[in-house]
Amino acid sequence: MALIHNLGFPRIGAKRELKFAQEAFWKGQSTEAELLATAKALREVNWQAQQSLDWVPVGDFSLYDQVLDMSFTLGNLPVRVADLEGSALDSYFRVARGRSANDSGCNCVHAGEMTKWFDTNYHYIVPEVTTKTRFSLNADRLLEQLAEAQQAGVKAKPVIIGPVTYLWLSKAKDQSNPLELLEHLLPIYSELLETLADAGAEWVQIDEPVLVTELDSHWRHGFETAYHALKANRVKLLVATYFGTLRENLQLACNLPVAGLHVDAVRGRSEIAQVADWLTTNKVLSVGAINGRNIWKTDLNATLDWLEPIAQKLGDRLWLAPSCSLLHVPVDLDSEENLDTDIRRWLAFANQKLDELEILGKAINNGRHTVAKQLADNQDAIDSRRNSVRVHNPLVKSAVENITEALGRRKSHYAERIGKQRSHLNLPLYPTTTIGSFPQTPDIRKARLAFKKQEISAQDYHAKMKAEIEHAVREQEKLGLDVLVHGEAERNDMVEYFGEQLQGYAFSQYGWVQSYGSRCVKPPILFGDISRPEAMTVAWTQYAQSLTDKPMKGMLTGPVTILNWSFVRDDQPRSQSCLQLALAIREEVQDLEAAGVNVIQIDEAALREGLPLRKSEWQTYLDWAVESFRITANGVQDETQIHTHMCYSEFNDIIEAIAHMDADVITIETSRSDMELLDVFEAFHYPNEIGPGVYDIHSPNIPTEEQAVKLMNKAAERIPAERLWVNPDCGLKTRQWEEVIPALQNMVAAAKTLRANA
Ligand code: GLN
Ligand code: ZN
Repeated sequence: MALIHNLGFPRIGAKRELKFAQEAFWKGQSTEAELLATAKALREVNWQAQQSLDWVPVGDFSLYDQVLDMSFTLGNLPVRVADLEGSALDSYFRVARGRSANDSGCNCVHAGEMTKWFDTNYHYIVPEVTTKTRFSLNADRLLEQLAEAQQAGVKAKPVIIGPVTYLWLSKAKDQSNPLELLEHLLPIYSELLETLADAGAEWVQIDEPVLVTELDSHWRHGFETAYHALKANRVKLLVATYFGTLRENLQLACNLPVAGLHVDAVRGRSEIAQVADWLTTNKVLSVGAINGRNIWKTDLNATLDWLEPIAQKLGDRLWLAPSCSLLHVPVDLDSEENLDTDIRRWLAFANQKLDELEILGKAINNGRHTVAKQLADNQDAIDSRRNSVRVHNPLVKSAVENITEALGRRKSHYAERIGKQRSHLNLPLYPTTTIGSFPQTPDIRKARLAFKKQEISAQDYHAKMKAEIEHAVREQEKLGLDVLVHGEAERNDMVEYFGEQLQGYAFSQYGWVQSYGSRCVKPPILFGDISRPEAMTVAWTQYAQSLTDKPMKGMLTGPVTILNWSFVRDDQPRSQSCLQLALAIREEVQDLEAAGVNVIQIDEAALREGLPLRKSEWQTYLDWAVESFRITANGVQDETQIHTHMCYSEFNDIIEAIAHMDADVITIETSRSDMELLDVFEAFHYPNEIGPGVYDIHSPNIPTEEQAVKLMNKAAERIPAERLWVNPDCGLKTRQWEEVIPALQNMVAAAKTLRANA
């Protein structure tokens, strides 16, 4: 008998109940007891949804973040929160977000650093350690959830983060290697496992996703040390790996002295047979056969085709599961009221994935005939997607096939283009610009909502947006900026706005996925070949240009960013979808150019986050990502100036690819890094122009003229002044006009000072 189990379930609730409860608590509108009651109710619903499983994850529920939970379990709190008054939950939220409910003044601390959980869009709170860090067990949260689950009558399997992964995710504040703490950490893990055993846990899932990354010999050795130390404990350990293949760590993972191993059979299917061979007969193999990272239905018959021989071989030693925690998919397709019926048939959210798992389990254990109807229905859905004319557009496919290298190449080299652009645009030294958006005021959001609900006409909505654009243009003229933007008032979101206008995209109503804390994203669903029925931004940009003699910058989101922030197709490589997006956005670039727009910015905010987990795969990704950008951007005349924008500050390992994009101007986030990040541009002799942000838009603080001048002078030590622009770090949509105006006044004043002193 194969068993079915799950690695983790989304905690936000089908209608984001957790988000609203958290935010109400933080604002002081509800009590701690009320927040905890909502959390408890959500856990009950989640366990109900997972009732059919042989093992149900417990402890995967979190009030903010599972890594922060682990830090609390291990007694690893930053000292800055230790002596503040309040409950344990107050401390927890102070580490998570700098403050708890009703905190003001003295109880505010700086929040823990947040970073991406492997290659997902989930962000965790980075554990802070030093060589002096010592741990102590606090199992209350886990024990409480375990007891609740037992009471709810589910077979509970506690989930924790493994010791090696925990240290690997940690950041040493004193430059030491967190791995050195392993010997201090292991006794606490032992104690935790014993405590869980006492509380009735038979299995514990211990997540070690770092096993799918490139590990040096110290970290590999850390695995051996850790699991030999933990093997004496009474619980059975299921080491869970996910998000990729094990490769050189395969043998290491298989040989760990534990009771079972979970592997990602979506990304790592090619390794399953080998893992099944390597595992000794006393160990369970958990096969992650259903994609926990995407929203498509599983092709169950095809899955059974490769799974059945493995099941034969493993018998009782086979467990089935999603590839990873379902944290990364929306909760329930049944919540959707407006999804097109075709597309709905092709999808599975968390609840539907559990149904699939149950069908797989029955087919394996009792034969396919016992679930013949479900398998036939699944096959129909799979076939309908595979053959749909809505998915396949032969024109788009042939356009991608006909892409040549020339398509992504500018007509002339930058050195030649720049002269033509300068005389055309007539820009001063240290030209000033902004990154695109101006404040999305409550007024703008209200108008958009009213338009969506059909309470106001399209005409009224457009008139309102035009008024906003005019306001933004007038303000920029008053400020004396050199290259203006229209302000993006009409855009809800930089990806959704384009997705809504492209063929091949669908949108859910409740397809939310947790990004961090109470923040959720609703990635659009890229389901088919991408085409652009008509121009998407030209009318707005043209209108904005008609209001001013200054150059107006057209504003687009690039193909790589659109791709990386969407749920994408699993029936073709990501690179194919990206090239299709590139061709569609290229048409927009060319329409803008034809409409007389001489400066066009193509944002690639998410280019870096698409990098694969393993460095050995980076180049392949960068090749097609950069090629996609080049195809989008580079089909223009020499006089047309292409900008790109990336709001992060790590370019060291990708500078060559960035240079190969060949944008005339790149604007980047630098104000927090004191311009040191330009070192890599200098060392690489980056040839084109750079706008290093001098205004940290994430902070409400107004930068002064002196600060901006100082930063730009540092920049000019590294990059020749004639190749520098003066601009903020990122778009201004989250700020208020009252902050933006004085900040930009200072920024423009700084540019004038710089010119005068040049
Ligand atoms: N043009 C976008 C804006 O200004 C860029 C946003 C981003 O980089 N995240 O809002
Ligand atoms: Zn940005």
